[in-house]
Amino acid sequence: RNDVVWSEVDEYFIEKLITLDSTFEHVLDANKEAGIPEIDVSPPQGKLLYLLTKMKAAKNVLEIGTLGGYSSLWFAHALPENGKVYTLEVEPEHAEIARQNIKRSGYEQQIEIIVGKALDTLPTLEEKGLKFDFIFIDADKENNPQYLNWALKLANPGALIIADNVVRNGEVIEENSDDKRVQGVRQFIDLLNKDPRIDSTAIQTVGQKGYDGFVMGIVR
Ligand code: SAM
Repeated sequence: RNDVVWSEVDEYFIEKLITLDSTFEHVLDANKEAGIPEIDVSPPQGKLLYLLTKMKAAKNVLEIGTLGGYSSLWFAHALPENGKVYTLEVEPEHAEIARQNIKRSGYEQQIEIIVGKALDTLPTLEEKGLKFDFIFIDADKENNPQYLNWALKLANPGALIIADNVVRNGEVIEENSDDKRVQGVRQFIDLLNKDPRIDSTAIQTVGQKGYDGFVMGIVR
């Protein structure tokens, strides 16, 4: 019952508040058709990323986990003309679908997809001397602790860091979970607890994507 209400409330808000940005609806349809997992952010969450990008006046965004490019497009949509999204994806098939979606939406100049394991491709961003104003961690959760260290290394002072899916239907509090993703998230939270370089919180969410949540932090 709860899940049904959460989804219907999301539908209501999507209809009322996100209609202007229906440009991206075809992306979710194309992803479904291609049979890639429906684990993109929801439209209200995508719009939140868009609004935060604007509030931050971010120019350079780093995303770990592209999938079909849905969240990448929300970022690109919020950026100034000279802004750029670098998005990392390990699955060539996902990257190809993202490429098609991005081309169809007209954002090829603003979004660069880098294919490979993020832990292998993140060092190339450092070699290029790139720094980011907004970093979105949304890939394999078991590597979240390493992604946080990279994010802190590649962040401009004051950068915003968001990591998705940190509640996992409440499993985050299961200390002895044998799910590596839960353990990855828990280690990530422990690092946030100790690391003086970042000031953070976590917010629980419900909606089309069930019961989950995200971490948000500002780099000092
Ligand atoms: N951010 C996307 C959105 O909201 O539209 C959703 C990303 S999806 C939750 C996670 C993606 O991370 C998948 O496409 C998966 O293939 C990718 N991924 C998993 N492990 C990875 C790794 N080691 N390096 C880079 N990408 C990885």
